Amino acid sequence: MIKELDVVLRPEEAEVSEKLKLYVANKLRIKSEDINGVRFIRKSIDARRMDVKIQGRVRVFIGEKERVIYSLTNFREATKESVVIVGSGPAGLFAALTLLEKGYRPIILERGKDVHKRRVDTATLSRDGVLDTESNYAFGEGGAGAFSDGKLYTRSVKRGDVNKVLSLFCQHGASQDILSDTHPHIGTDKLPRVIEAMRNTIISFGGEVHFNTKVTSLIRKGERVIGVKCSDNREFMGPVILATGHSARDVYRFLYKDGYSLQAKDVAIGVRLEHPQALIDEMQYHNKNGRGLYLPAASYRFVTQVRDRGVYSFCMCPGGFVVPASTEEGALVVNGMSPSSRGGKWANSGMVVQLKMEDIPYQDTLGMMRYLEEVERNCFSERYKAPCQRMVDFIENRESSTLPKVTYAPGVVSRKIDEVLPEIISSRLREGFVDFGRMTRGRFVTNDAVLIAPETRTSSPVRILRGDDFTQLEGLYPVGEGAGYAGGIVSAALDGIAAATELVKKLEG
Ligand SMILES: Cc1cc2nc3c(=O)[nH]c(=O)nc-3n(C[C@H](O)[C@H](O)[C@H](O)COP(=O)(O)OP(=O)(O)OC[C@H]3O[C@@H](n4cnc5c(N)ncnc54)[C@H](O)[C@@H]3O)c2cc1C
Repeated sequence: MIKELDVVLRPEEAEVSEKLKLYVANKLRIKSEDINGVRFIRKSIDARRMDVKIQGRVRVFIGEKERVIYSLTNFREATKESVVIVGSGPAGLFAALTLLEKGYRPIILERGKDVHKRRVDTATLSRDGVLDTESNYAFGEGGAGAFSDGKLYTRSVKRGDVNKVLSLFCQHGASQDILSDTHPHIGTDKLPRVIEAMRNTIISFGGEVHFNTKVTSLIRKGERVIGVKCSDNREFMGPVILATGHSARDVYRFLYKDGYSLQAKDVAIGVRLEHPQALIDEMQYHNKNGRGLYLPAASYRFVTQVRDRGVYSFCMCPGGFVVPASTEEGALVVNGMSPSSRGGKWANSGMVVQLKMEDIPYQDTLGMMRYLEEVERNCFSERYKAPCQRMVDFIENRESSTLPKVTYAPGVVSRKIDEVLPEIISSRLREGFVDFGRMTRGRFVTNDAVLIAPETRTSSPVRILRGDDFTQLEGLYPVGEGAGYAGGIVSAALDGIAAATELVKKLEG
């Protein structure tokens, strides 16, 4: 028999399975030996008071074997037409899996290396300050999300079936906890194996995955896109799902040159802010002893308005580290990630300010992208060391004479953030921090925290226009974050699924 039950638990009851069984047995007035398993189907933390509780709903397996709680997707042997997918980020991978459900053959072309070789290149960048422009934190199998916190929550629930995305992750090896957690995440240590499992599914059902294969133009027949051409002159024919992410600036450039419809877009830029995790735990769990043994590393979310622009935290990584996410020589970008345990001693988060077209001097289609390139070049110093300033020093506008230990492996250099970021951004960031300090009775603002610049890749600076049927021209499906229709792993995956579904409809007439 399976029963469902709402629960409000102490943290240790939620974490220690024997205690959870005992709690459930008491509630149901049965013996705990009769319970074969208890699984959360919803789980969140209520940290409004000192006495932090875990609340949610559980499914209890009484006298029968514990089972998975998601439905498996069936794939078919790819015996139908080929579809070219450019990019193996979440948008491309989930588009490929969707095509395989209907028996169409996905041919994935990926400029970078497979996810394991890619890890070596990201390590070289962190350790030696040497960037491989085709294999890094943005390019390569799994896309930009492969080495990340793997946060899987999205607000774009109306765009499709989020559960389907999460279930496909589980089907490929992710923990089933992601189905119940309010803020699910996988972790950088686990994601590569999940991505590899997806690749194996694609290949085993007859799809193809080509690494080190950079697409440099689209092939057209009149008003139809019929394939792609690669940097080594190979051509791949079929309708094209273009899922190249927002870091592939060369793609925007060739599309623009070849006359495709693009539009400049507003973005948000700023810094990574890094605090000791213990301080965030203390602040969020209202306990000077921190989070104890059973609570997860705490996170935060801040938002305010400063002179008509939003200032907000973005992509927080509890227990994580700051990483060099550059894709171009001589230009710096930082981002953040965490392992599944979120067990590190530091917490980082993007702290960004909205940047609108009217704020910048370039008004042309690629203007915002060029502006971001300038900011990234301005922040660069040798070996991808990053400009860094303590938080209170930044607010009080003085250079930091010393810097604390930071997680950013290539190293940091003491610089005033005002000197490397545009004034419209740094001045609002400063006021935003003062606001966040007020909201937390000063606890958030500390010189133990540092700003590391720049965070410039929060969303695409260009939109690749498309109609309601996901095409710009017949045969061209721009999808995911790079097309400007998604932001984050899940929304990119949903966009890939939706575009592939539309394409299948068209192929089936
Ligand atoms: C360090 C880091 C941490 C992040 N953490 C999170 C997180 O925790 N949660 C979250 O939701 N989001 C996170 N993000 C953002 C998330 O990764 C992206 O929103 C998401 O990956 C976008 O998916 P996509 O498929 O549209 O594009 P991408 O993931 O960018 O994939 C595009 C792919 O296309 C390939 N490509 C580009 N140009 C070409 C070409 N010309 N030819 C062939 N291949 C090409 C690239 O190599 C890449 O693999 C993080 C990003 C980074 C960099």
